[in-house]
Amino acid sequence: MKKIYLIAPILVVLIISCVTIGPGGKKGIIFIGTEDEITIGKEVVKDVESQETVLNNTTVQNYVDNVGQKLANVCDRKDLKYTFKVLDSDEINAFACPGGFIYIYKGLMKEMDNEAQLAAVLGHEVGHIVARHSMQRLQAVYGYQILMEVALGGKLGKTAQAMVDATAGMILLGYGRENEYDADEMGVLYEKKAGYNPKGMIQLFGKFKQMEGNPPSTFEKLFSTHPPAQDRIGNANIVIDRIGGTNLPYYESEFTAIKALLQ
Ligand SMILES: [Zn+2]
Repeated sequence: MKKIYLIAPILVVLIISCVTIGPGGKKGIIFIGTEDEITIGKEVVKDVESQETVLNNTTVQNYVDNVGQKLANVCDRKDLKYTFKVLDSDEINAFACPGGFIYIYKGLMKEMDNEAQLAAVLGHEVGHIVARHSMQRLQAVYGYQILMEVALGGKLGKTAQAMVDATAGMILLGYGRENEYDADEMGVLYEKKAGYNPKGMIQLFGKFKQMEGNPPSTFEKLFSTHPPAQDRIGNANIVIDRIGGTNLPYYESEFTAIKALLQ
């Protein structure tokens, strides 16, 4: 009798948390609930915004958020409010915090030529959130502790701060190749669904490939944590061949006007 009593709440949590964790309807068990993910994400955001400067330009911020929302609207995860912000640094990078908080550096935007390329990066980051890549990693490290806290109290407690610290490090280190390819696949798909030419992703990887040959110092992070550009081009092209959309526009003129506002 006692045994059943202890096991029952865990089963309930596991059953209701079988969710999308990758492209093509890939499912998995996530026992960190959305509410807890948002709580962890907000703490990571505090860290990010204490270390980086959010670009002080409403026109640029609104434009990027608007493009981001188009991708969020077509993505496979709707239990979150997604936000997109530009950071005022020439670093060539972008990242996603748990809970839907996405950041792109001004330096990466300066390398782009059109809105489809921007949508490719934002779609890739939305993909990481949809697939709950950081939550999967946290579960792998803190699985037993999380399970026990959820089973005993129904809420995350003392493990939370340790998870916030681990997440901040993880975002900077990247998620590993398999997760990056999954995020690329979702990014290409969301890009097309939002009305952009998915070849924007290929154009962007072409730029990364050039930089790999002669990396600027600001490219180091992205260069070291993501798979080689040539491999990403190959994988993304396979997805594009399947989904189509190469007749869709790249939207160049408005992007060019926004890019002129970046110094
Ligand atoms: Zn990534």
